[in-house]
Amino acid sequence: MYRGRFAPSPSGPLHFGSLVAATASYLEARTQGGEWLVRMEDLDTPRVVSGAADDILRTLEAYGFSWDGPVMYQSQRNDAYQAALASLQAQGLVYPCGCSRKEIADSVTLHSALQGHSVLQGIEGLVYPGTCRHGLPAGKQARAWRVLTDSRAIQFVDAVQGLQSQRLDTAIGDFVLKRADGLYAYQLAVVVDDAEQQISHVLRGADLLDSTARQRYLQQLLGLSQVHYAHVPVASNAAGEKLSKQTLASPLDTRNAGTTLWHCLCFLGQRVPQALQSAPSGELWQWALTHWKLEQVARQRSIRLDTH
Ligand code: GLU
Repeated sequence: MYRGRFAPSPSGPLHFGSLVAATASYLEARTQGGEWLVRMEDLDTPRVVSGAADDILRTLEAYGFSWDGPVMYQSQRNDAYQAALASLQAQGLVYPCGCSRKEIADSVTLHSALQGHSVLQGIEGLVYPGTCRHGLPAGKQARAWRVLTDSRAIQFVDAVQGLQSQRLDTAIGDFVLKRADGLYAYQLAVVVDDAEQQISHVLRGADLLDSTARQRYLQQLLGLSQVHYAHVPVASNAAGEKLSKQTLASPLDTRNAGTTLWHCLCFLGQRVPQALQSAPSGELWQWALTHWKLEQVARQRSIRLDTH
């Protein structure tokens, strides 16, 4: 059984970039005869904007999406995240960390200077040097919880981006599962929730391609089933930045849903007839549900909207 999902973070209204991920995951699920679920990733409470979750759901409805089952809210799932962390604690796979960001930066700089090389950067900034791996240094308080990583390469075939391989120890280092502010990290929550919702296929924006090895690793440690992944290109602006609330992408206009969907399908490499450009959204869905082909999506991490 194919089961896909769309998992927006309610830190603002839906924009074209989120529509691309929603549309691709929806069409792939429906054309495989599968289910499509929605999960609100309102875990990072400081970033949640009040009213945004409902606004996102109303926009999805206005665009003609329909989801299966109730919407899951991460803000109500702390017990499940806590249980997952406890299971990793029981296996000795996580440890408390007392380092602040500044201490990590200082220790990486010092280590690099001693080794005579430039500061080693991982894919998302500095690689955690493992300071608290063998116990909290005297006088340090536990702030966060990190999971042990090792040097084995995590490999998987992404249905759009092809073979991927990542070594967590050099790309990321031991990563945080529970943050210093007490919130569970996205990487843990997403794995626990995909398992709870029995998601078989994750299709999302390629900005999350580099997170996938961490998620597959956690699935292994927690004994969860492995998921199939596909990462579609993200839309970027003329400056090459991903469209996001931070880059002030404009909210989707629900009055011209058909035309926006037409652009979205073109962005996803589908050969949608020009004649449908100003058709109502229902006609676009009708066309897309019979013509959608994942293999036509570009094997790129991002596509600039101005070149389109
Ligand atoms: N909530 C994440 C976002 O909006 C997506 C997470 C996922 O699809 O795994 O970027």
